[in-house]
Amino acid sequence: MNFSDIEPIYSGKYDVIVVGGGIAGISAAVSAARNGAKTLLIEKGMNLGGLATSGLISWYEPLCDGEGKQMVYGISEELIKLAAKYCFDNLPVKWGGSGKSKNHKDRYCTRFSPTVFSLALDEYVLESGAKIRFDSRATYPVMEGNVCKGVIVESASGREFFESKCVIDASGDACIMHRSGVPTVDGENYMTYITHMYNLDDAKKLAETGNTCDFRRWEGKGSDMEGNGHPEGMKMLKGVTGDDVTEYILIGKKRMFDYVKTLDKNSFDIMTLPTMPQFRTIRRIIGKCDFNAIDGETFADSIGSCGDFRPKGIGKHYQIPFGALYNEAFPNLLAAGRIISAPKGDGWEVSRVIPNCALTGEAAGKAAAKLALNGTPFGECY
Ligand SMILES: Cc1cc2nc3c(=O)[nH]c(=O)nc-3n(C[C@H](O)[C@H](O)[C@H](O)COP(=O)(O)OP(=O)(O)OC[C@H]3O[C@@H](n4cnc5c(N)ncnc54)[C@H](O)[C@@H]3O)c2cc1C
Repeated sequence: MNFSDIEPIYSGKYDVIVVGGGIAGISAAVSAARNGAKTLLIEKGMNLGGLATSGLISWYEPLCDGEGKQMVYGISEELIKLAAKYCFDNLPVKWGGSGKSKNHKDRYCTRFSPTVFSLALDEYVLESGAKIRFDSRATYPVMEGNVCKGVIVESASGREFFESKCVIDASGDACIMHRSGVPTVDGENYMTYITHMYNLDDAKKLAETGNTCDFRRWEGKGSDMEGNGHPEGMKMLKGVTGDDVTEYILIGKKRMFDYVKTLDKNSFDIMTLPTMPQFRTIRRIIGKCDFNAIDGETFADSIGSCGDFRPKGIGKHYQIPFGALYNEAFPNLLAAGRIISAPKGDGWEVSRVIPNCALTGEAAGKAAAKLALNGTPFGECY
């Protein structure tokens, strides 16, 4: 068989296709479906949540400004409540939590179980009317000029073509927008490899408190946000080639295994390994405008406001412009989540966290439905 002989199977037409079932993609799909669009969410793995669940991040950064004012609402708030609903949380009482576990920040944020949250996410998405396709990797957009006609997907069915009036890239690495010709910028990453682990001390604490929040513990063998812990001499990795991703994964796993070899074998276990690489930034688009996280800056096309999770950002208020979610030359392609147009720096740090990925996802879903159902161009959506 030649490459050219592999004709895709036609797998149907949607108003909106969302690539990637992370927090941004979930929010986009639910938002598009609630706004009346026939919506398909395509996920290459078998669980929803992306880095938040499969990447074991499991810490929902704050929806508030750190001075008691709630900044983010909508789907982002629904999701934090869902994350806290069926398993442990440490949401402060003030923000509707049980107060059973201490939250050192006292902000509208919480720890959550990545596995239980991921189970709940299936139901949450399906209830909106959106369809989910798992174990299916969207590989290429099909373009007519700058108009995207749909996406090619590799799955157990073989090679498929899903037609769509609007495509939202929530892949975390902007692979669809990049391959569509939308200008993008690569990121650079310190080494990170985090697992969830428990040991005898954790088990004793659980027995004392009866609260599983005290049991599931992050065990990281890599760097923090500032690069502390990055292996000496290791280059920064981008995550945009198969070799790059593999090197990152292998180094992280080796460091974890080297640590495991030092432990008493009966005294611990690793609960979960991450099932996606923990790159903070892979690729982002160059949009109509940038989100730069400037306190008090306003935009005519604001999709909503958010705060800043960092201690230095207490009390800061940022609007996010819709223009950061698309490039004007591409009339039916939208970005959501950690790939929006936010240059590395404050804008990028703020926009990539879970609550704000939900915020941009929700906005993208609403705009995609408006375009697909009423022909409203992006420039008139907000
Ligand atoms: C080490 C680290 C620590 C962090 N700490 C925090 C924290 O404490 N709190 C916080 O709020 N945020 C934190 N973040 C940031 C946050 O977790 C992520 O930026 C956010 O979850 C990204 O969501 P997303 O939906 O944009 O992308 P992702 O979570 O990357 O989701 C993308 C999804 O798309 C799927 N996908 C990708 N390509 C394809 C394709 N071609 N076809 C089909 N499916 C595809 C992936 O499998 C994945 O499910 C951290 C990130 C890292 C890496």
